[in-house]
Amino acid sequence: MLIKSPPAEITRDFWMLGTAEYPVFGYRDADECVLFEASVSAVAPVIARQLAALGVGPEAVQQVIVTHAHPDHVMGVPVLRKLFPRLTVLASPVAAKTLGVEKAVAFFCKVDQALAAALQTAGSLSGADQAQPPAEMRIGIDRTIQEGDTVTAGEASFAVLETPGHSECSLSFHEPRRGWLIVSDATGYYLPEHDWWWPNYFASYGANLDSMRRLAELGAEVLCLSHNAVVSGAEHVAAYFARALSATESYHHRIVAEVRGGKSSRALAEELGAEVYAKTQLLGLDFFQKNCALLVKQSLQHEGITEQA
Ligand SMILES: [Zn+2]
Repeated sequence: MLIKSPPAEITRDFWMLGTAEYPVFGYRDADECVLFEASVSAVAPVIARQLAALGVGPEAVQQVIVTHAHPDHVMGVPVLRKLFPRLTVLASPVAAKTLGVEKAVAFFCKVDQALAAALQTAGSLSGADQAQPPAEMRIGIDRTIQEGDTVTAGEASFAVLETPGHSECSLSFHEPRRGWLIVSDATGYYLPEHDWWWPNYFASYGANLDSMRRLAELGAEVLCLSHNAVVSGAEHVAAYFARALSATESYHHRIVAEVRGGKSSRALAEELGAEVYAKTQLLGLDFFQKNCALLVKQSLQHEGITEQA
């Protein structure tokens, strides 16, 4: 089963919040709440309103976990800090380093603004929920976490897993007793309405495949994707992983075959970007084409192919 419309209770006391495009996952236990993902700045007030409607006050929200340092997963942090005064922000050391770089955060601000506008155009946000640029061009992290660490909230205990490939700093979280798995973008960008994956191995194809295989083996019952859907039910989760892996491998093989057949990387990236853009217009064609150029690069690198100039 797919859960696609936040706010939605995934299972007891575990919620999909925010918007479908940029959800966060909230677990609450008595008077403590932890959020996985930080979404974009314009969605942060939506999350606070949804939590208030559930009876979770600002004081109860004590931790937000940054899964990786990409703008659509971190720009909500400064706003969440204002809304939830007791908040501790957690991320991997690599993500913390990126988020301390002014140039990076300044670029993230531009993306954050574009995303807020796109969410309004799509009708996912009202005009009142605008992008809120941070006061300073850095996003502070209070606690760094890595493989082997645990994030606890009340009685829940989430194991921190390093799952690189989408980015170097990507983390996943597993609550084994409850069968919950939060993987952020490790399985690519899944579009439920097209039942289609845009593979997202921007940092490494091989590492991304390894991460996906490792996550699939956990046998989770609930799989939280950080865009568009939560997959619920062990069989559905297993089927999702099998198909995501196969979609990722096919994409890679296609890239390799096209380049070996003589297509230029640039032409291929433009073609692949246009295919994604035809399915989702949350960002511009140029954004998708630039990101597809990274996929082409990673695929060729994985095969040891150097393109003729
Ligand atoms: Zn990402």
